Amino acid sequence: MDATGMLHLLNAEPTLLPPVQGDANGDGIEARRAEGHNCLRCGKPADTALIADLGPHDKRWLDLCFGCFNTVRLADQ
Ligand SMILES: [Zn+2]
Repeated sequence: MDATGMLHLLNAEPTLLPPVQGDANGDGIEARRAEGHNCLRCGKPADTALIADLGPHDKRWLDLCFGCFNTVRLADQ
């Protein structure tokens, strides 16, 4: 699934998502997770962070709990 499809599934507004600073790699994702954000979709504590490349909106964080991450992942099949 591309980022647009994912955002549609999450009902997320790209401009409201937090921008990724610089070139986030594995360490950046770990740091993001450690900040304790809430899941975009259901509001529970997020277990994982994804980076969505939104073209004109650059790269944005998608914070998701495992349940919602799986929902998004399975919807990609
Ligand atoms: Zn969730």
